[in-house]
Amino acid sequence: MASILDTEIKYLPGIGPKRAELLEKELGIFTFRDMLHFFPFRYIDRSKVYTIRELEPTMAYIQVRGKIVSCSTAGDSPRSKRFVATLQDPTGRMDLVFFKGIKWIQEKLKVGQEYIAFGKPSEFNGIINMVHPEINLPTDEILYGGSSMMGVYSSTEKIKNSGIGNKQISKFQLTILEKYLDSIPESLPQYLLQKKNLCSLKDALKNIHFPTDNATLARAQLRLKYEELFYLQLGLLKQKSIRMRNDGGIRMPKVGDGFNKCYSSLPYPLTGAQKRVIKEMHSDMKSGKQMNRLLQGDVGSGKTLVAVLCSLLAVDNGYQACIMAPTEVLAQQHYKGISELLAPTGVSVALLTGSTKAKERKELLPALASGEIKILVGTHALIEDVVVFKNLGLAVIDEQHRFGVEQRSRLWEKSAIAPHILVMTATPIPRTLAMTLYGDLDVSVLDELPPGRKPVQTLHATETQRGRIFAFMKEQIKAGRQIFVVYPLIKESEKMDYKNLQEGYEAIIQEFPAPEYITAVVHGKQKNEDKQHDMDLFASGRAHILVATSVIEVGVNVPNASVMIIESAERFGLSQLHQLRGRVGRGSEKSYCILMTGYKMSKESRQRIELMCQTSDGFELAEADLRMRGPGDLEGTSQSGLAMDLHISNLAKDSQILEDARQLALAVLEADPLLEHPSNALLRTQLSVLKKNGNLPTDYSQIS
Ligand code: ADP
Ligand code: MG
Repeated sequence: MASILDTEIKYLPGIGPKRAELLEKELGIFTFRDMLHFFPFRYIDRSKVYTIRELEPTMAYIQVRGKIVSCSTAGDSPRSKRFVATLQDPTGRMDLVFFKGIKWIQEKLKVGQEYIAFGKPSEFNGIINMVHPEINLPTDEILYGGSSMMGVYSSTEKIKNSGIGNKQISKFQLTILEKYLDSIPESLPQYLLQKKNLCSLKDALKNIHFPTDNATLARAQLRLKYEELFYLQLGLLKQKSIRMRNDGGIRMPKVGDGFNKCYSSLPYPLTGAQKRVIKEMHSDMKSGKQMNRLLQGDVGSGKTLVAVLCSLLAVDNGYQACIMAPTEVLAQQHYKGISELLAPTGVSVALLTGSTKAKERKELLPALASGEIKILVGTHALIEDVVVFKNLGLAVIDEQHRFGVEQRSRLWEKSAIAPHILVMTATPIPRTLAMTLYGDLDVSVLDELPPGRKPVQTLHATETQRGRIFAFMKEQIKAGRQIFVVYPLIKESEKMDYKNLQEGYEAIIQEFPAPEYITAVVHGKQKNEDKQHDMDLFASGRAHILVATSVIEVGVNVPNASVMIIESAERFGLSQLHQLRGRVGRGSEKSYCILMTGYKMSKESRQRIELMCQTSDGFELAEADLRMRGPGDLEGTSQSGLAMDLHISNLAKDSQILEDARQLALAVLEADPLLEHPSNALLRTQLSVLKKNGNLPTDYSQIS
């Protein structure tokens, strides 16, 4: 359905081709509809006028009314040149400062005239000022659309420099609304609007840009958030409902030799949670429906064993299984651990990674295609087209957050019938986020750690304590323990990071000289062989200290390591810190995590460090992370293919709406699983539009 709203943005009065290009590039606004759906991110009450005495540099945008009493230009270099106008009201004086557009503002401002200045107060040399305020005459029409709450739109440097300010964006919105509001079709069925008491799309769009008061704004926001989250859930749940109606999944009813032999030769009993989760999975795997399950379990909860036992179920039923890890180091570790677990069963296992030699590949690939190899462990290399299974029955993806939806779907294509899928994540995903990211997946939780684990004591330290930390390290090594020292590695400052690591490493070998102490080092710039060599050195207990970048973050298992020192800890996110900390505390010894930071830290960094010292509960940390940073920043989520770019909803704040929208979607699908009823025609069209625009996941093409 083409509509007037699909008109290209360049045809909107005041825009034209040049500005249109900028709007497209910078803000993703291509059409009138995009513009209308470009919502303010906050609002300013412009009915309130402050007095100068009331102003404080901590305030957000406000307005003051006063007379200009003097003007001057200052600074002689082009960079420091500025125009300063002093504004006075009955309570005091302040400066209005302009660095740009000086000529224009100089002509506009008249000494002795009264103005309304609108901007953010700041302080310079003890005097309150405003930099680049918006200036209006008290008689100017500034209350667009009759609204006293002004929407503030996000912008970019380039947009601002092109002369499109907030005022212009408001004007664009008003133009579109005035001309086309009546031709905007409703996007939710009437019966749902009534049931949920939501306002119409028209009202919502009008009031999101130009609310008359907080109550109308809230109503508009609620409607738009509800719609966004409802369609997201409807799309995901519909896919799930199609999957659940399909009885063509691989059936794996048998518990055979492989499973039993592995199980009975374990040196420890399964935890209650492991037992429960394996039961949940086996009931999926024998149901005739394709399993699509997310296994969440905090670091150290024993996910690998669960994956291995489920893989053995597949093997016992005559199928192959694969276990995919995000990094080479982890795949190798997995391979080693899994081989040991499989030893009593005689089930054949192989490793395939990017660095598997051509010669080995030549032997491996045919053995995989013939079914001789039962379990394949590896990295992304597993999803290459040349990798052909005889009959893949289960695909396990470890540390899901590093894999995209795209990659998941390529696994599906490895088999005539979609294999069962188990995704395992150690990043505890808050419930809200899990529902959005994985609304299509069933979720199992390993909420119990193997017995005997002692909580890791977490401490914060700065450079002045370095000597004491070295002494502590020596004590621990003397007691037979091993130590991780981790450096951050961030793409943007990669060079500096490697330099820091190198310097740190040198400092350590100076303090801990060979042969008394052995220090291994692992980072991304090494050859794979070197990396493997040093990793082995540490894993086998021969090295006392491992200096590494965050590559060791995922999955490395060295139970004898009891100290984790994280350098520049303020640069890591909460969940990454938690992952790293999870590398220790796996043995029976008391373990420590030491967070090294600079003296100066931002408020957020300080909060993160404090939280780490307070709690070792991964879910609590993940919730806090979501609250503090918003879901967009959550580690890995951008790569994991968040099902949809959320436009207006905020997963941290709108979990209530999400929950409700999900219930509604469930109810709708229960009554009409394929949305075939005429009253749901609109839902179907909307879903296909969203899907076409890439706003819904499409990795289910296989079965739907
Ligand atoms: P993660 O969930 O972080 O992947 P792992 O699978 O690496 O955890 O397991 C962590 C450690 O716990 C391993 O050394 C593993 O052998 C051990 N482990 C797993 N299950 C149990 C259990 N039921 N009892 C005792 N130790 C266990
Ligand atoms: Mg693991």
